Amino acid sequence: MKDKSRHTVRLPRRIILGRDAVEELGSSVKELGAKRVVVLTSKTPLKLFGEKIRRILSESRLYFTLSLIGEGDAFTEALKLEKRLARLDRKPGESVVVGFGGGRVIDAGKILAWRSSLEFISVPTVPSHDGIASPLASAPRRGKRYSFNAIMPSVIIGDVSILATAPPRYFGAGVGDLVAKHTAVKDWRLSHTLRGEYYGEYAASLAETIAERIVRCAEKIAGDRLEGASILVEALIHAGVLIGIAGSSRPCSGSEHLFSHALDHVAGYPALHGEQVGIGTIMMSKLHDGDWFRIRSALSKVGAPVSAREINVSEKQVVKALTLAHTIRPERYTILGDKGLTRKAAEELARSTMVI
Ligand SMILES: [Zn+2]
Repeated sequence: MKDKSRHTVRLPRRIILGRDAVEELGSSVKELGAKRVVVLTSKTPLKLFGEKIRRILSESRLYFTLSLIGEGDAFTEALKLEKRLARLDRKPGESVVVGFGGGRVIDAGKILAWRSSLEFISVPTVPSHDGIASPLASAPRRGKRYSFNAIMPSVIIGDVSILATAPPRYFGAGVGDLVAKHTAVKDWRLSHTLRGEYYGEYAASLAETIAERIVRCAEKIAGDRLEGASILVEALIHAGVLIGIAGSSRPCSGSEHLFSHALDHVAGYPALHGEQVGIGTIMMSKLHDGDWFRIRSALSKVGAPVSAREINVSEKQVVKALTLAHTIRPERYTILGDKGLTRKAAEELARSTMVI
């Protein structure tokens, strides 16, 4: 019989955090033994930091190409680049893929590296979600968003000087994706108790520590851009690495994420992932009998949305998403159970937590 606790731990080789950390991009590429760099980016990071990236890679005497990803989803964009890369790179392993940008760029970079059997370097420019350091990539396919195991970044560079310039909204989203670990761990433990699912105490307690630190640091994050970016990116990277340790997204994603995915379905991706997840965490915390008001206060302090109105969705859409959430990933057991919430219970939950 297969040992239920058997799983593989995948970890990054190098994590560089701090001001001007991106200056170490060249040395990181060389350490991986690569000579050629394929940098994926998007319009805004290219405009703001394109020259800097060019300078750093030129100074390191590395061959590089800067590829702007188009407007398509991460998977489509990665496939387009894969064809170009196959023409460019005759010797596999000589190249390394760098994702320099937000969530879609990082996801496209992971998918490209995974499909081309190359190593991946993650250089996030916004501190908005834990995908910056996890092996998971998420991309919408046929109207549904799928999360799948792609590749653990070999190097993660959290340049605080760059991250501090991100619009405030991305800070709120990052906090939302981190407070979520409170309910994700509760769901994981519940599934372990009721369903005998593998549960890693070590990963679970680290995830709880991360969420707790973010709740306690909300004022600091709101008060100082550099310090806020530093606290956030460190926590997001640790959360992403935890997914590698646990061998599943369980410590970082539970019923609050299911709510967010259901809301994407009902309202067509109305807000940032972390913003929706934050609102989901308030409600799921109430279901778990947790201190939901404290989570709501932390989100408010950093200017993250705490109500349906603030993310431009209707009361009806929130209630609908709540009743659908349990159907998103039926194999993932959470506080929502097998049958989910009734419409009446969903409405009551959203009202009592002031989401609607
Ligand atoms: Zn998330």
